[in-house]
Amino acid sequence: MNYVKTAVCVKCGAEHEATPNLTTCRKCGGILDIRYDYDGIRSSLSKSSLKERDDFSMWRYKEFLPVDDAQLAGGVSPSGLRVGWSPLYKADRLAGQLGLSALYVKDDGINPTASLKDRASAMAVAKAKEAGAKIIACSSTGNAASSLAGNAAAAGFETVIFVPERAPKGKVAQLMVFGAHVISVKGTYEDTFRLSAEAIEEYGWYNRNAAINPYLMEGKKTVSFEIAEQLDFHMTDYVAVSVGDGCTISGVWKGFTDLYQAGLIDRLPRLISVQAEGCCPINRAIAEGKDWYPMEENTIADSIAVGVPRNPDKALNAIRESNGVTVNVSDEEILQAMRILGRTCGVFAEPAGAAGTAGVKKALEEGLIPSNASVVSIVTGSGLKDVANAMKAAGEPVSIEPSMEKLREVLTL
Ligand SMILES: *Cc1c(COP(=O)(O)O)cnc(C)c1O
Ligand SMILES: [Zn+2]
Repeated sequence: MNYVKTAVCVKCGAEHEATPNLTTCRKCGGILDIRYDYDGIRSSLSKSSLKERDDFSMWRYKEFLPVDDAQLAGGVSPSGLRVGWSPLYKADRLAGQLGLSALYVKDDGINPTASLKDRASAMAVAKAKEAGAKIIACSSTGNAASSLAGNAAAAGFETVIFVPERAPKGKVAQLMVFGAHVISVKGTYEDTFRLSAEAIEEYGWYNRNAAINPYLMEGKKTVSFEIAEQLDFHMTDYVAVSVGDGCTISGVWKGFTDLYQAGLIDRLPRLISVQAEGCCPINRAIAEGKDWYPMEENTIADSIAVGVPRNPDKALNAIRESNGVTVNVSDEEILQAMRILGRTCGVFAEPAGAAGTAGVKKALEEGLIPSNASVVSIVTGSGLKDVANAMKAAGEPVSIEPSMEKLREVLTL
């Protein structure tokens, strides 16, 4: 049973039928939002019926997803990969170090292609199947691309992927191994996005571009369903997440508001929107109480180096509606958060993946959140994707001749 009612434009309110290859509003070009029959969901889903399910993946929450049961038949996910149900760690040592009452780390770097983007790409594959497409295309700073390439490969689709030339090698290597047709564009992410849009228009490929395809966020929101269920539906005060295009934070908010509307949680967390100091157009718009305008892409955190965000309307709505907190972190603070996450939690994050945690630390230090708060920090991607920056965060090992004498000289335990 599919509880989707309609798709509504967030700009002009125009309603659209929720066809599989839906993109932006036909009237004004605005971004669409998928709406559900929450009464129907409420009557067929409860906390206890959820507990009995043995599907430990993002498809566990199928009532809240725009897919038909046929796609989920036999307990197999539409892309074939196991996406979601990542661990939520209670990070007591990290909380102690930061001086925070309760901190949880949601490690989405454990997804099949090692980022939260797998949730969106698995959904893109499900909808491309429904649309009868053969080729799926997207442009990406890296993770949307590598996750699409992996999920599409598993389901037997071809992919055409546009990446800016600065994309880290680990992510490009994933694309090559997954057999994508990769176009590395000599330009910014903005240039890359524009070229992909023109090519998709000309060739008629299925569009997995952030924000343009409204179903992607429906995949991303499953991270919030898991967080809520893993907390036994007792929500924390705050949830921190790093922000680039703004699709992730919008998805996170949609997940919580879905649960709230279906009566599964009784209060909503406040969002902590974390951007890089060198690229923070969304947080700047909140701080200035104005609309956003473009900014340079000046940070090591490539996944959130987005100077022209693709989903600013939904992201700004999410932050404002949740009475959220914004915080911008420096590259140095991001590298430090990578070390702290590794050393207190054993979690290896890429720079954008650690930025959320850097933001929690800074928000505490600046008094933006109180020390008696409870917080979930979402780690959005794995450090293995960007080994160069991991080495920058943690340094090189000591190197010695193979002798005990030399070892005694250098060992500082
Ligand atoms: C894409 C991404 C983000 C940010 O998501 P947006 O939708 O662009 O805001 C954060 N972290 C990682 C690792 C990502 O890949
Ligand atoms: Zn519209």
